[in-house]
Amino acid sequence: MKKTALVTGAKQGIGAAIAARLEKDGFNVAVNDISGVEFAADVSDYTACEELVKAVKEKFGSIDVLVNNAGITRDGLLVRMSEQQYDDVIRVNQKGVFNLMKLVGALMFKQKSGSIINLSSVAGVHGNAGQFNYSASKAAVIGMTLSAAKEFSPRGITVNAIAPGFVTSPMTDVLTEQQKSAILERIAMKRYGQPEEVAALVSFLASEDSRYITGQVIEISGGLVI
Ligand code: NAD
Repeated sequence: MKKTALVTGAKQGIGAAIAARLEKDGFNVAVNDISGVEFAADVSDYTACEELVKAVKEKFGSIDVLVNNAGITRDGLLVRMSEQQYDDVIRVNQKGVFNLMKLVGALMFKQKSGSIINLSSVAGVHGNAGQFNYSASKAAVIGMTLSAAKEFSPRGITVNAIAPGFVTSPMTDVLTEQQKSAILERIAMKRYGQPEEVAALVSFLASEDSRYITGQVIEISGGLVI
């Protein structure tokens, strides 16, 4: 029987590349985004997530892989950051991950198998000027990953986080040329990552070959030095 993967925020960017790769790997893929897809739901809304999980389970029978990819930025220097900018990012990037890890985790608990892969960021590991809110949310994703790994892994469920550096996507397209060249100087490989390169790592963490890897934060940044 085909296994099923739920990928959040998968209409564009890294999420779309992950969905395409997992489909190529032979999974049924439930593509979630906030709108415009079959499994539309706001990941920060708990009730909407309950309905999402129910709809995916009804259509495919199980959820074997969860990729918490949906995320937003509301950048600005801390002293100028509004409460709204802070709350919006925490709600989507942090609470969204809680919602789906809890709901899908419960299903995986019953199945006694599964892989959960959370998109953190180098900003959550090292911090980043102008991204106080985003860094906080992505550091929280690491804490949630490590704690859930301890709770879930005895049941055969692996939980890992990926911390990408700078990847070409609509999220990073908004940076100015000056910002982009300053970032490139700090990357050993002197180029941005591609969404497909992140998707290849997700593919490995979703596969049988990675069954003994859990509670890890894997950086994919071309050798970024902060
Ligand atoms: P993106 O902005 O191109 O795509 C994010 C997707 O998430 C969009 O399709 C958006 O509609 C969706 N989304 C936003 N809020 C949502 C919500 N409440 N519910 C459901 N879907 C929602 O971003 P990306 O660059 O593809 O990033 C994907 C993930 O990787 C994010 O978690 C991001 O923080 C992380 N990341 C990206 C980079 C990078 O350089 N691009 C680096 C590190 C980490």
